[in-house]
Amino acid sequence: MNTPPPKRRTVLVIEDETDIVEVLKYNLNKNGFDTLSADSGEKGLEVAAARLPDLILLDLMLPRMDGLEVCRRLRGSERTRQIPIVMLTAKGTEADIVLGLTLGADDYVPKPFSPVELLARMKAVLRRNDPARKDESHSDILKLGPITLDAARHEVSVEGEQVQLTLSEFKLLRHLMLRRGRVFTRDQLLNAVVGPDVFVTERNIDVHVGALRRKLGEAGKLILTVRGVGYRMEEA
Ligand code: CA
Repeated sequence: MNTPPPKRRTVLVIEDETDIVEVLKYNLNKNGFDTLSADSGEKGLEVAAARLPDLILLDLMLPRMDGLEVCRRLRGSERTRQIPIVMLTAKGTEADIVLGLTLGADDYVPKPFSPVELLARMKAVLRRNDPARKDESHSDILKLGPITLDAARHEVSVEGEQVQLTLSEFKLLRHLMLRRGRVFTRDQLLNAVVGPDVFVTERNIDVHVGALRRKLGEAGKLILTVRGVGYRMEEA
């Protein structure tokens, strides 16, 4: 019996610059993706709702309706809410990136992008949205490199050595490990660890990340600072 070939996934590119669209289509097709494109936010919303692509590459710089508004509407609609979004951004637009992530975009790639990096980011986003991977959030034990986190026992160890974390640090680590590779804004991380804790009043996520990194030792380097945006946990 022959196993069927893996289903080709469809990527919708929302971008008004035709040469960039061509480069993206060429690279995506070459790497086994089918592509759709739209040269405005309005059209992008229509195509997304009609065709339900597996992923959307969304340029933030679009005529009339900008990418942030497109992102807001994609996330606001029941039909398109679940489609992963990777934003294409320009240099020096950290505030827009933070807003886009807050609106629910999954990741971003700054222009000019290398096709290799873009594909790596897209594949990571698709992996994270894989239903099998999502099941991980129900399991008690999470592993990443030398770090093991046991949610049921509320224990963290690095290379078998137990590490004492505060409740906030523990929640922060679990959040980052569950969604490794994804960049979070400081506000998103703050919301993730909100609890009956001093954390909320302190409003300083950087202090908690700093403490967490120190306690993890070498493994603390897996928590990356994304300048002007927030934090990301390395995938391996
Ligand atoms: Ca554009």
